[in-house]
Amino acid sequence: MSPYQRAGRHAKLMMGVLASAIVFVIAWDQLFGHSSLAFTAAIIALVFANGGMLLHNCPTCGKNLFFRGVFVVPWPNKTCGKCKADLTAEQHP
Ligand SMILES: [Zn+2]
Repeated sequence: MSPYQRAGRHAKLMMGVLASAIVFVIAWDQLFGHSSLAFTAAIIALVFANGGMLLHNCPTCGKNLFFRGVFVVPWPNKTCGKCKADLTAEQHP
């Protein structure tokens, strides 16, 4: 599996977690009224899930696939922004 595929899988997981977090907060609001506690729990879940993002780095130079310069985007680079390595290529360690 290429670094791009692995990072893409993480991006999909994150979208699932984000969707669940939104549904959780809305459902909590409907059932128990507004609670900043439910909101806080959802944020903490997102931060933990997103921590895995930092593990997706370019195998050549170590630049994170989710960074475009100083910006963070929700989808990984296909080509490394720093060393131009092809991140869709299969890895043969
Ligand atoms: Zn690189």
